[in-house]
Amino acid sequence: MSKEKSITIHWVPAHTGIQGNETADSYAKKATTRPNIEKIPKKSFKQLKNAISNVQIQIWQERWASSTTKNGRHTEKLIPAVSIHTKKYRHFIVQFLSGHGRFPAYFVRFGRSLNIKCPCGAVGDTLHYVVNCPFKEKYAKKVIYDKDNLSTILNREENLGLLHSINQEVNNLVPQV
Ligand SMILES: [Zn+2]
Repeated sequence: MSKEKSITIHWVPAHTGIQGNETADSYAKKATTRPNIEKIPKKSFKQLKNAISNVQIQIWQERWASSTTKNGRHTEKLIPAVSIHTKKYRHFIVQFLSGHGRFPAYFVRFGRSLNIKCPCGAVGDTLHYVVNCPFKEKYAKKVIYDKDNLSTILNREENLGLLHSINQEVNNLVPQV
């Protein structure tokens, strides 16, 4: 029995003329003439998670900075940068930060009182008692912060104690409504 076998070679056009294949071929040829090969390092799951988290924080920050609610504006002066790290404050400090406390302006805003003024004659909003109320000077003058950057009020532990005392006094001063 003969071991010879006959072999015939045919050219099969395969993907020739198919647009997607031609485009891929053309890019593959172009790539062979490039002087450098760009390597895009693979990212770990943790890196991807951090990247997504950073984008979310950025979106949150943009929304926070452009918020137009009155209370949002007040709080944004004190906490301009958003953070996923929780901070715990005593309730008077939270009232100071949120503006939701026993302040004449707060009661007027929610229709519980008609008198928006502090006994000193100025509008009794949250910041008034820290920034310019003569009745609260004994504590307020000890609060150290940058007047052009109210968020610095929160930088010193001593300030938090003073804010607490101020709010406690305002709480006693403003009648129950
Ligand atoms: Zn006052």
